[in-house]
Amino acid sequence: MTQVTRAKNGEISAEMRLAAVNEGVSAEYIRDKVATGRIVIPANVNHSKLEAVAFGQGLKTKVNANFGTSEDYDQLENELEKLKAAVEAGADAVMDLSTGDKIKETREAILNNSKLPVGTVPIYQAAVETVKSGRGIIEMEVEELFGVIADQAEEGVDFITVHCGLTLETLRHLAAEGRVTDIVSRGGSFMAAWMLHNDQENPLFEYYDRLLEICYKNDVTLSLGDALRPGSLADATDRAQIHELLVLGELVDRAREADVQVMVEGPGHVPYDQIETNIKLQKELCKEAPFYVLGPLVTDIAAGYDHITAAIGGTAAAAAGADFLCYVTPAEHIGLPDIEDVREGVIACKIAAHAADIAKGVKGAKERDNKMARARKKLDWEKQIELALAPEKLRESRKEHNQSLKAEDACTMCGSYCAMKIVDKQLK
Ligand code: SF4
Repeated sequence: MTQVTRAKNGEISAEMRLAAVNEGVSAEYIRDKVATGRIVIPANVNHSKLEAVAFGQGLKTKVNANFGTSEDYDQLENELEKLKAAVEAGADAVMDLSTGDKIKETREAILNNSKLPVGTVPIYQAAVETVKSGRGIIEMEVEELFGVIADQAEEGVDFITVHCGLTLETLRHLAAEGRVTDIVSRGGSFMAAWMLHNDQENPLFEYYDRLLEICYKNDVTLSLGDALRPGSLADATDRAQIHELLVLGELVDRAREADVQVMVEGPGHVPYDQIETNIKLQKELCKEAPFYVLGPLVTDIAAGYDHITAAIGGTAAAAAGADFLCYVTPAEHIGLPDIEDVREGVIACKIAAHAADIAKGVKGAKERDNKMARARKKLDWEKQIELALAPEKLRESRKEHNQSLKAEDACTMCGSYCAMKIVDKQLK
């Protein structure tokens, strides 16, 4: 039985109760929103380590960190270190995007070590295994793809990105559009190449009911991927992207009817002024399904600093209603992120999410800032460290920049001309 079935039956599960405590809302609120699909709790029945997290309406904006091996970097230990860094930095979920040699072992190790919900993109494994067997991705068998999805569901993966909305009709819109960057979603590109070569409908769309059965059995949450997410500002909000979104809206309805939890993924590279429109459209067309966005990146020209580009877009998106932000690291558009990139990416994304939560009026968000303001006024550095989104960074930075000062002193920025001290003294 899935969380939705239980919620529809009026039951409050342990996962709903935990989410309610962590969010500071009532368990009934969580249950009612899960029942209507406005909140999801990705919690595969086989993921024994999981401490459930809820995503969606009225809740804190959540942050996802991606990592995983690649052909060129295939060290399982490194990926476990990245998991540790992501957890320490405050991620709410992780995705294993491995395409290296030991995909299954890497995923198992991450599942065994992660209390956070774990997501995957199953077509990666299906594609890599097809290539390893001496065939091209276009020769991947439908059975192989569904076999991988079923295996991952049995292993305990909590949510899967599946590009079900990419249809032959959507691809016709893409061809007509004349995009600059065509398709930048890796899974989307695999699926599109397969469909175009074989002149066949997307099996994830054609056999969607089969996918729903697998997800229902293990309570895997569907994350309906946007294969046509714009990969450049020039391609944002075009007909191809919106056509796919229309299809995804219909698939949300079908998932809800089958008691399968579902969220929808979104763009991508989007000019700042188009972000709110994108979020409102998704919320409307997908009947307020939780929205999981990558970035959005508000400019194409900041490689090396794309965690900042994405944080700007992430705040705008979440303030407009997006529920879940996928981090972007400083290595985006450059290479596989290392451990430090993961840490920086999560922190940047946490800042974006928190800024949006203040704007959205999420319970408790602004109170933390108010406490920080009071601690600053009192020059209470320990309290500031406790309240900071990146406490270790503040502790180290305070030490590094103020070596000659005492713990209770102001700081080297203004020294004896500290505004806080001067005004405090006079007001007293
Ligand atoms: S010295 Fe200046 S920057 Fe430092 S705490 Fe005082 S007012 Fe703030």
